[in-house]
Amino acid sequence: MIQPPGRPEAALFHAVSPPVLSEGLRQQLALGEQRRRQGPRGRYAPSPTGPLHLGNLRTALLSWLVTRLQGGEWLLRIDDLDTPRNRPGAEERILADLAWLGLAWDGPLIRQSERRGLYAGVLSSLRRAGDLYPCRCSRRLLADISAPHGAAPVYPGFCRGLAPRWGPEQGRLPSWRLALEPGTLGWTERLARPGVLDASREVGDVVLRRADGFLAYHLATAVDELTLGITDVVRGLDLWAATGPQMAVMRRLGGTAPQFWHVPLWRDGTGQRLSKREGSGGLAPLRQAGRTPAEVVGLLAASVELVPEGSCLSALELLQETDLDSLRGQLARLAQQRSDAAEI
Ligand code: GLU
Repeated sequence: MIQPPGRPEAALFHAVSPPVLSEGLRQQLALGEQRRRQGPRGRYAPSPTGPLHLGNLRTALLSWLVTRLQGGEWLLRIDDLDTPRNRPGAEERILADLAWLGLAWDGPLIRQSERRGLYAGVLSSLRRAGDLYPCRCSRRLLADISAPHGAAPVYPGFCRGLAPRWGPEQGRLPSWRLALEPGTLGWTERLARPGVLDASREVGDVVLRRADGFLAYHLATAVDELTLGITDVVRGLDLWAATGPQMAVMRRLGGTAPQFWHVPLWRDGTGQRLSKREGSGGLAPLRQAGRTPAEVVGLLAASVELVPEGSCLSALELLQETDLDSLRGQLARLAQQRSDAAEI
């Protein structure tokens, strides 16, 4: 394993205090706090990289249920910052599929691509506050960093302490990483294994702007949870570990983080996770076969044992049939069976 140079610059670690934010950013964060005080707010945040598969649709249904059972507002956010991965027509299809299932969202559709100015403002504030450093490690070098079996490699801080030089060097721009303070990053986890990760050993300095110039998912997501006043994030168990880096950003910005419900992923008959890339059939084949929305809602709900197999009921009927405590109990039982498996 390659050893990082000695840990430099105590100055990179300063007490957690909000970085110097512009007046506009402070207002956005205050608005988020105000919104979350008005009541529960959930969100579903698909990436428009292809049609939603049954696992994605089930997560959307569960997110809608968790929010509506608390009488909250449910937002729909399209995570479309990684433009090379976006697919033409995918957004329209996502909206049509959710509407067909009867999952109505509140307020205007939110697109991350229309909020780039906000994320870029946060990035410059963090940079000005000395929280970010440029990283010029190549992909090859990062791939060589050994990691415990299967776990994502943790960046060992090779570039910590590099002078904050912007421009390209040897034809490459740097990525910008958030220097994490040592200690634990914890969150309220409602379903899966308790939310706690060690910042240095299990998370590592998080990339907030990628070397290809794209704003990173962790930055945008953390900023959105705070400024949109999200109280409950319901998403797949595969994103459990992503919560650590997102908490690190939220902590730096100093807002109230949501609680998290990481739900089990849908597996096919051979135990494989469904994936959009492999085109694991979404709604299209079911609709072509003449299935109704009520049949599909029944199928999705039965797959997490909320209703018996073969049930046929609308999303609104399911809402009336379910209560939050038993939904949580049931999902927690399934998520914990999976928490120790490769999903986290
Ligand atoms: N856009 C991400 C995805 O589709 C999910 C992000 C999230 O829920 O935080 O996998």
